[in-house]
Amino acid sequence: MVPRILSKREADEMSQLIDMAKRIVIVCHVSPDGDAIGASLAMWHMMNGLGKETYIIVPDQYPADFRFLKGCKEILVYTRYTEFAESLISQADLIFCLDFNDPQRVDLMCPALTASKAKKILIDHHLHAKSFCDMTFSHPEISSTCEVLFRVICNLGLYEQMTVDAANAIYTGMMTDTGNFTYNSNSREIYLIIAELIKKGINKDAIYARIHNTNSEDKLRLNSYAIFQKMEVYPQYSAAIILLTQEELNRYHYQKGDTEGLVNVPLSMGNILFSAFLREESNLIKVSLRSKGNFPANKIATDYFNGGGHLNAAGGEFYGTLEEAGNFMRGILPVIGDLAAQLKQS
Ligand code: 5GP
Ligand code: MN
Repeated sequence: MVPRILSKREADEMSQLIDMAKRIVIVCHVSPDGDAIGASLAMWHMMNGLGKETYIIVPDQYPADFRFLKGCKEILVYTRYTEFAESLISQADLIFCLDFNDPQRVDLMCPALTASKAKKILIDHHLHAKSFCDMTFSHPEISSTCEVLFRVICNLGLYEQMTVDAANAIYTGMMTDTGNFTYNSNSREIYLIIAELIKKGINKDAIYARIHNTNSEDKLRLNSYAIFQKMEVYPQYSAAIILLTQEELNRYHYQKGDTEGLVNVPLSMGNILFSAFLREESNLIKVSLRSKGNFPANKIATDYFNGGGHLNAAGGEFYGTLEEAGNFMRGILPVIGDLAAQLKQS
């Protein structure tokens, strides 16, 4: 059995908010990943099943890899349908905030979200959730929002109503947020839940294939080029860095999501504990950080890149040129080396 995540009182309160709501909006973080999209779709299927008028609004475009999930066509992208999305947010009775801990993480949607009079329920697993919702279910010890959501659904007494479409969406988030169950994936509850999802009819092997066996030639060559030509390895600091300019991205007809996972690759070297990938965007440098073991990638993101995230997966932004960002990153390598050395000793 999977232990309760909501108290009886919390479950009653949440059920009441759902019962009373006529219009429900689901939102997730900017640059939605598998967990954000999976949780949003699963919640959408559940609410639809209860007969609720429900909308999913994402701050910006989501990766094409997830289009196979049922319900994706209903997702509204805020940057494309701004006015409609804002009217839905302002007229909602209830808003589910999924897979983020701070209203700023919905980017341009933040003012509309915070201004809305709707009741808000946060379901998330990032550290240090801000208090901006009427109910907050923040579980950083759980590896995906989709897992938190599965448990919430059960505690609301809605397991029986979960369809295979909702189950597929939940599995997608659990799988992608744990690197296909290769990190943050030692809790037994994960596998009890997978067993339940299989009971619902998911085909986990097919979901893996739909998400991962989708490389284009350009994508494969871009990632190979990045590793072969652009990876800087600093064994003395247990670190590796990859920088990609817009010109390089354009050369391989970069599409959003094409470099997903690239930052993890240097960690496959045994002596590398920290990996950084810096990508030039039109007005900023996007910084992705990954680490192994107890190395706090989120500390580097917070201290140096105005960002945040999890212990082993974090990110932030740098304002300046890619060259300046690269020099800045190389400049803090001794700090990273010291942190890595301390961890190796302990
Ligand atoms: P990714 O490298 O996949 O873009 O991001 C990994 C994780 O880092 C995300 O799940 C999120 O928790 C965190 N993250 C990435 N970018 C930012 C950012 O700009 N600000 C904050 N606070 N967190 C970020
Ligand atoms: Mn997540």
